[in-house]
Amino acid sequence: MPRPVFAERVSRFGTTVFSEFSALAAKHGAVNLGQGFPDFDGPEAVKEAAQRAIRDGINQYAMGVGAKDLRQAIAEHALRFHGQTVDPDTMVTVTSGATEAILDVLLGLVNPGDEVVAFEPFYDSYDANVAFLGATSRYVPLRPPDAAHATWWFDRDEVRAAFGPRTRLLILNTPHNPTGKVFTREELEFLGGLCAEHGAWVLSDEVYEHLVFAPARHLRPATLPVFADRTVTVSSAGKSFSLTGWKVGWVIAPPPLRDAVQRAHQFVTFATASPLQAAVATALRLPDSYFEDLARLYLGKRERLLAGLREAGLPVHTPEGSYFILADIARHGFADDVAFCRHLVTEVGVAAIPPSVFYSPEHRHLGQGMARFAFCKTDAVLDEASKRLRARLAPAR
Ligand code: PMP
Ligand code: GLN
Repeated sequence: MPRPVFAERVSRFGTTVFSEFSALAAKHGAVNLGQGFPDFDGPEAVKEAAQRAIRDGINQYAMGVGAKDLRQAIAEHALRFHGQTVDPDTMVTVTSGATEAILDVLLGLVNPGDEVVAFEPFYDSYDANVAFLGATSRYVPLRPPDAAHATWWFDRDEVRAAFGPRTRLLILNTPHNPTGKVFTREELEFLGGLCAEHGAWVLSDEVYEHLVFAPARHLRPATLPVFADRTVTVSSAGKSFSLTGWKVGWVIAPPPLRDAVQRAHQFVTFATASPLQAAVATALRLPDSYFEDLARLYLGKRERLLAGLREAGLPVHTPEGSYFILADIARHGFADDVAFCRHLVTEVGVAAIPPSVFYSPEHRHLGQGMARFAFCKTDAVLDEASKRLRARLAPAR
C-alpha cells in the first residue's frame, strides 16, 4: 500500500466552505453574499499610507512582536474605544491576520489532550486549529431567538457541563460570526466565573468590534475584572477598515499570556508585512467619525438586506453585530442548508454560506435550517441579490 499523501492532521479537511462558494459564485456569475469580504475598498488615507511606506523604504522585516508605532496605535485604540489600558511593549503581538493570532494563542497556551470550550456555530478555523494541536473541542450550541429570548442565547447548564478538569481555554467570539450575537455583560460575567473556577484561559475574538448596532454595545471581555488576567483579545484590521486582504491582526494580553503567544508567533510567521503595519497604525488613529460612519453604513446595509430577504420569503434573524444575516430556510423544501445554498448559487444566482459547516457533527442538524448572507457589499449588489431571490426562489411551503 502506498503511504497516503496527507498527514492525518489535514486528512479530514476539504477545501474551506468560503473558497468553495466563492469559486462557485464566480463560475455561475452569482452575486456573492457568501465569503465575508467587502466589495468596496478601505479608506484612501490608509491605502496612501501603505504606498508611502513602501516608497519610503519600510520594506524589510518588522520587529517580531510588531512595529513599535503600530503597537502604540493598538494601545491608543484599545483605550479610546474600550477603556482598556495596554502596555504596547509587553502586551501586544502583531500577527498576519486574526487567523494567525488564533493559531498562535492555541499553540502558546494549549497542550495535546487539553480541552477547549467554544460556542457553535463557530468560525471554522477554531475547530481545525484545535485539531492541529491534538486537543479536543467541547462545543455548546447557541440557540436562536424564541418567545423567551430576544437574541441568540445559551443554556447555562450546557456550558457548565462542557467545562471539566481538562478545560484549558474558552473561545469567545463577540460580535459573533455567523449569528451576529453580541454577548452581554451578564453573560460574560457568568462565563468568566466558570473560567476562573476552572483556571481556564480565554481567547476573545473581536474582529467585528466596530460592527455593532444599537441598542447592542460591544463589551470587551478583558475589561471585566474576572477576565483581565486570563484573556487574550484577538482583533484585526480586516473588517474595521474594509481591508481583509491585508491580513494584519494582533493580540492584546497580560504579559505572561502575550509571551506565550509571542513564542509561537516567532516561529509561525516571525513578523507581519511591514508597510501594511505602518498603514494600519494610521487606520487605528482615524477620528471617531470614521468608526461612527462605518457602523452607520453597515446599519443601512443590514436593513437593506433584511428587507430584501424578507420580501423573498426568507424569515431572518436580525444580527446585533458583524456583517452577516442568518435566514431561515427550513420551509423551502431542501434536504439541508448545503443543498439550499448549492441551488441558490447555481439556479438563483446568489451565493450564501451553509452554516452547518460551523457545527460539530453531533450538532450539525442545528445549522441545516439556515443560510448565511453577508451584507458587506455595495447597495447595488445587495439590491441585485434581493431581486434575484424575489424572482427566482420558489415560495416557501
Ligand atoms: N475570526 C472571525 C470570527 C472571522 O469571521 C474571521 C474572518 N473574517 C477571522 C477571525 C479571520 O480574520 P483575519 O482575516 O484577520 O485573519
Ligand atoms: N471570515 C470570513 C467569513 O466568515 C471568511 C474568511 C475566510 O475566507 N477564511 O466569511
